[in-house]
Amino acid sequence: MGRWIFKTLEFIINSFLNVVYPNDEKCVVCGCYSTRNLCRKCEKNIEFLNSSFSIEHNKNLYKYYSIATHKKAMRDIVIALKYNKNFNAASIIADYMEKLILNKKLSIDVVTFVPMAKRDENRRGFNHSKVIAEFLARKLNKPCVRLIKKKRITKDQIGLSSSERWNNINGSFVYEKKAKKYNSILLVDDVITTGATVINCVDELKKCEIRKIYILTASKSIV
Ligand SMILES: [Zn+2]
Repeated sequence: MGRWIFKTLEFIINSFLNVVYPNDEKCVVCGCYSTRNLCRKCEKNIEFLNSSFSIEHNKNLYKYYSIATHKKAMRDIVIALKYNKNFNAASIIADYMEKLILNKKLSIDVVTFVPMAKRDENRRGFNHSKVIAEFLARKLNKPCVRLIKKKRITKDQIGLSSSERWNNINGSFVYEKKAKKYNSILLVDDVITTGATVINCVDELKKCEIRKIYILTASKSIV
């Protein structure tokens, strides 16, 4: 009986709050009612990097940018998008990405994203990297175009060792011919760990003789 009263009260309070604050005015991390999609308390919890890093692979150096470490609030934001389909989380990531692009004065023609295999995208219902790229492109007033295709299904990289990640993903992407018309491309992904995924995408785009390819991820993780 007591539990029933508590549940009813909770329902009435939530219904009232949903009228006062629309659903999109909740913090995507803690769920508190906030005028922003990310409350200030959770934002303080993000370990910002806003810097560039490099990975050496096959004697080539690949530079990339990440917004934050894949911990605490940024990890929760990525999870909210990827597994809870919260597109407000993509908008938050795109906001930070836009700031980084302007701060670093990166000049780009087009925004693209790491593609998913058709089967995986159908299962999830959306490609989370594409959603981030679309939000970002709108903010930058640039086109968002698919320039890479995933030609075969690969295992989820999560849980694999560093060498397994490279073996799993190598040769799984192919560029789209239309990539050849761009000079400067921004490639967006959610998380970078070994870099195997984005570097495989960049290697495909390099075949199109693109002058500049920037890599930008929401977060940076360690295997
Ligand atoms: Zn919060």
